[in-house]
Amino acid sequence: MSTTQFSTESRGDQYKAKAYAAASATSPLALTTIPRREPGKDDVQIEILFCGVCHSDLHTVRSEWAGTVYPCVPGHEIVGRVTKVGSAVTKVKPGDIAAVGCMVDSDGSCSECQDGLEQFCPNEILTYNSPDRHLGGVTYGGYSDSIVVKEHFVLHIPSNLDLAGAAPLLCAGITTYSPMRHWGVTKGKKVGVVGLGGLGHMAVKFAHAFGAQVVVFTTSPSKKEDALRLGADEVVVSTDDNQIKKHIRSFDFIIDTISAEHDIDTYIQLLRRDGNITLVGAPPKPLAVSAFNLISGRCSLSGSPIGSIAETQEMLDFCGKHNITADVEVIPIQMVNKAYDRLLKSDVKYRFSIDMASLKSQ
Ligand code: NAP
Ligand code: ZN
Repeated sequence: MSTTQFSTESRGDQYKAKAYAAASATSPLALTTIPRREPGKDDVQIEILFCGVCHSDLHTVRSEWAGTVYPCVPGHEIVGRVTKVGSAVTKVKPGDIAAVGCMVDSDGSCSECQDGLEQFCPNEILTYNSPDRHLGGVTYGGYSDSIVVKEHFVLHIPSNLDLAGAAPLLCAGITTYSPMRHWGVTKGKKVGVVGLGGLGHMAVKFAHAFGAQVVVFTTSPSKKEDALRLGADEVVVSTDDNQIKKHIRSFDFIIDTISAEHDIDTYIQLLRRDGNITLVGAPPKPLAVSAFNLISGRCSLSGSPIGSIAETQEMLDFCGKHNITADVEVIPIQMVNKAYDRLLKSDVKYRFSIDMASLKSQ
């Protein structure tokens, strides 16, 4: 049964969907049409209602990381309504609210998939800019009116959550929730959050909800009050060395969400013995690390990619229980290029969420 409401023009096993795409690293995102596959027996078709704007979208669109294929349709914080399901689908039905994050497929057979950790599968297919096994070319993301995804990668949104604010949970949420769970952020731990953007503000909310003592490090003094409102116990303006020095050797865990080049040693020296700093921010250029700061405290530096499907559902359920969503600025898709310019100026409070109804009227 189909309740498709968006523009479709069936061509055999594919149809055309509206989307915003970049034609090159220097082109603005603009309206286009893209092919989507008609749902197969394990597939779910979703009419996209909201899509968050992640800094990874910007890195990819502007080819700051290697390997962008154009046209590029970004977007991996997707919330929408199910419009069609394949015959074998049991997880959702037409009319349900459903979500999609950063992955749309994996091989299902490797040891990572067997362990339920699809984000480490060597054949993981990301929501955009990954090989599309069905139609050829690359996958296209959520800056679109619809998407078709294998059932396993579809998630449930708790019914009490606002949908515009829930969309960013699918990347910013899970990317900060997962390493904090992994490194044991609990009551009594001192946690640093470096960078108060999309990921950073979710990290503050989660660390606070886990009962930790939360210190935010920001380059933007104007975000101080917001940081406290979001759940921080203390805010440090990271350009002030005196403020930084007060925290030497005191943190159990630090999450670094900065999207650009920066001095990570500033934060490594703040770890206590056996403390960990996890990089989730993915600046295009390598960061320099002083061996001595790590050695002297037996500290560790690690990274973390998103989270598994099971953990993403766990995080969404946790958010439902604790009424956690992102603080969003809802924008029409026509504003997305301006939103990117503001992201680069650290001027986002604290995630842009695109209202995809704006795409219908274009
Ligand atoms: P965002 O909203 O733009 O936030 C980044 C924040 O970093 C800014 O708000 C700013 O915070 C700080 N910052 C920016 N430039 C800086 C600079 N030159 N020096 C110091 N601080 C700076 O970005 P986001 O969407 O949260 O993404 C953050 C990073 O995480 C990106 O690199 C993104 O690609 C990556 N990411 C990784 C994963 C993963 O799986 N590991 C998933 C999603 C995103 P203040 O104003 O507070 O200083
Ligand atoms: Zn993201």
